[in-house]
Amino acid sequence: MALRCVGLLLSKELSASFSGLRQTRALSSSSRLFSSDFLKNSPNNALDKSILGRYRHLETPSDRLQATYLWIDGTGENIRVKDRVLNKIPKEVSDLPKWQYDGSSTYQSQGENSDTTLVPRAIYRDPFKPGKNDIIVMCDTYLADGRPTPSNKRNALQSAIDKVGHEEPWFGIEQEYTLLDVDGRPFGWPANGYPAAQGPYYCGVGADRVYARDLVEAHTLACLYAGIDFSGTNAEVMPAQWEYQVGPSLGIKASDDLWVSRYILQRIAEEFGIVVTFDPKPVEGPWNGAGAHTNFSTKATRAEGGIKAIEEAIEKLSKHHERHIKAYDPKEGKDNERRLVGRLETSSIDKFSWGVANRSVSVRVPQGVANAGKGYFEDRRPSSNCDPYAVCDALIRTCLLDE
Ligand SMILES: [Mg+2]
Repeated sequence: MALRCVGLLLSKELSASFSGLRQTRALSSSSRLFSSDFLKNSPNNALDKSILGRYRHLETPSDRLQATYLWIDGTGENIRVKDRVLNKIPKEVSDLPKWQYDGSSTYQSQGENSDTTLVPRAIYRDPFKPGKNDIIVMCDTYLADGRPTPSNKRNALQSAIDKVGHEEPWFGIEQEYTLLDVDGRPFGWPANGYPAAQGPYYCGVGADRVYARDLVEAHTLACLYAGIDFSGTNAEVMPAQWEYQVGPSLGIKASDDLWVSRYILQRIAEEFGIVVTFDPKPVEGPWNGAGAHTNFSTKATRAEGGIKAIEEAIEKLSKHHERHIKAYDPKEGKDNERRLVGRLETSSIDKFSWGVANRSVSVRVPQGVANAGKGYFEDRRPSSNCDPYAVCDALIRTCLLDE
């Protein structure tokens, strides 16, 4: 039995405490017994959150604003940010300056040639800073010689979208994630065992079924404020696992929105002292993994009789399964290997499959779409830690560009 959490060091004591212990059956007693231990090792949870408030009310120059530049580091899944003060309110993203950073500290360049460049691509309102003009700036990244960094998948997606703009590709992405305490245990799980088996938690209600709804609802409000096409949330099948959705949005916006919404989620979780993991299989065994089901449509699939275009797209996808698996997690399929096991509402990683209303397939056509004869389809393969730029790029290249 192993507990896998990306980026977290799991103590030997903890993994030992997980192995061989029987499942805790009583939902309510499990949370009562161990509640005093939750977050006891979380430095952020120990801080007094009211102190910053004293400074947020200070008057600052009206012609200045704060901009948080956000980018994806060399892992292809982790977010980095740095802040700067600007003295001109941008009207559009091209008004914003490029900015250099030390790429050797983000796995993006060598030390001897480490200047890496952030190019602003999209602007969001900042829900964390106090000024009404403060912004988050979604950036992509370039090496000193001007080429995109290897983890810059946005550049390729933009060029694909430029070729198919007339087909109006829409994407809607369902982001699943898991909350952990700083020791790597799923948040709210008992210290010496497991919660009762899956069943009562999906879309659940009640203190013994869902944990940290406050965090989830704060995230929704902050994303709406920021300008993200945020479209909903639900508690997931495994306790401490949640989902939210962005889109459907035209072109690249769903991907930009997903990255910025992940940043906002992690920032809010910081305040609670809780860790967010996007690992696609945070707990081995009979516990659902986490995905980023991607819903895709075009002008042709949404038009009358669009089911024909959907079937054609699925036929093309069936011939490029490997390409898509490689694009659907940051380790070219290695992360998804743990998740796409053909059980727990997943398909097998080795074989392409599709079906109407079936959740154990690679691509699902919703029943409502089959009935209406038009609409969209859902690619269920992308993992929760996927880069949406790479996912959308693969879908466009296979289904629309015939590459
Ligand atoms: Mg889900």
